[in-house]
Amino acid sequence: MADIKFHCPECEQKILVDDSAAGMQIDCPSCRSALLIPAEAGVTAQLVTRRRQAVGAGGGGSAYEELDRKQRELTAALEEAAKLRTESEKSKTEVNRLRDDLAATARERDGLRATGLEFNRLKGGRGSLSDRAGKDARRAHARAAGAGEPRQPARRAEV
Ligand SMILES: [Zn+2]
Repeated sequence: MADIKFHCPECEQKILVDDSAAGMQIDCPSCRSALLIPAEAGVTAQLVTRRRQAVGAGGGGSAYEELDRKQRELTAALEEAAKLRTESEKSKTEVNRLRDDLAATARERDGLRATGLEFNRLKGGRGSLSDRAGKDARRAHARAAGAGEPRQPARRAEV
């Protein structure tokens, strides 16, 4: 009876079995991957079930915890990435909204400018009218004042 020495292809664990076990399936004592025992030494054992599945199915063990931790980290990283993507989507939306606001403001400003020009034009027209009216009124007032002033002391003197 000879022994067959081989390595676990998954974790490199050295495994020694009796050659009568050649071709049988065993679980790696280290990583618990299912392996096919090679017919002779030096031949790489065939991996039947990877450590991950074997461990996942078996549960427990530090390797499983390590994997679990890695998976949680990966999930967290993915969530973080998704959040960042959402953030950048949000800021993209925000930028678009601001751009729209800016465009709306520009339109409004153009509208106001047009209204302002129209208003100034109207005011200008009315202004010259009211200026003329004002001058007339002031002239009339001045005449009235000029006419009334000398009359008042005279009237007071009469009383
Ligand atoms: Zn192994």
